[in-house]
Amino acid sequence: ARVGIDAGGTLIKVVYEEKGYLHYKYYPISKEKELLQWLQIFHSPAQFILTGGRAEALKQKMAEAKIVDEFSVICAGANYLLKEEGKQRSEYLLMNVGTGTSFFIHKNGKSERVLGTGLGGGTFIGLGKLLTGKSTFAQLADLAGDGSKEEIDVLVKDIYESSSSPIDGNLTASNFGKAIFVQGGASDKAAALTNMIAENLMLLAMLLIEKHSLSTIVFSGSGVSRHDYFQTRLAEFSNMFGYEAIFLERGKYSGAVGALLSA
Ligand code: ATP
Ligand code: MG
Repeated sequence: ARVGIDAGGTLIKVVYEEKGYLHYKYYPISKEKELLQWLQIFHSPAQFILTGGRAEALKQKMAEAKIVDEFSVICAGANYLLKEEGKQRSEYLLMNVGTGTSFFIHKNGKSERVLGTGLGGGTFIGLGKLLTGKSTFAQLADLAGDGSKEEIDVLVKDIYESSSSPIDGNLTASNFGKAIFVQGGASDKAAALTNMIAENLMLLAMLLIEKHSLSTIVFSGSGVSRHDYFQTRLAEFSNMFGYEAIFLERGKYSGAVGALLSA
């Protein structure tokens, strides 16, 4: 059987074949030992293909494994998942929100990483913890869903008040700009943080989409999975700019699937 492993900065994603089906699981970096134990009992013969920033480090602790570059396999993984989910597209911008965020262009049968930013899932849980004291992704994502970003952000209409503004009054004029005047609840801060990340990732996406004449954004990475408010904001910005937004249900595994397929 083939086993694809994407060892990222935060989570290790594993995809393996059994009876013709793919199975998916993940381990936090801190549970690497458990993964290695599971790999030992995994029925042999197995072929292990590793990818991600920590692939080299993981390989040292394994018997035999091949390493592939994640930038060159992630779109193949996304293509597979798109097809599985009945949403095949021949060209798109892939936004992979991991610990950090990477952007890929898939066009004319080729894939390329074109941009990256440190604004990503690590920013959400890291700054989220500093702002609210909560430190798990699930807690922070739930908080964000209950909050109102308007309590923390200065909106265009807050500045223009009654006079007519040259741009949509509901746009953000200043992320966290109200925090100098108000305390703000934990959920409001988590919402404002989520929105700040979504807005700025979408601004980068917009420039890339226009530059490469695309119209679809595919979202992957654990940073967007199971974070409803983040997905809602990303989808709203996509709509506003006239782009199609696709959230892969198995998007956490695009790198691991890509690695498996490369065997
Ligand atoms: P990178 O690709 O940047 O090296 P990675 O591959 O480990 O990192 P992902 O697994 O795609 O990244 O996403 C990690 C992010 O997903 C975290 O920063 C966090 O925001 C979010 N996340 C979702 N579930 C969890 C979880 N159970 N534990 C920690 N973070 C989680
Ligand atoms: Mg990753």
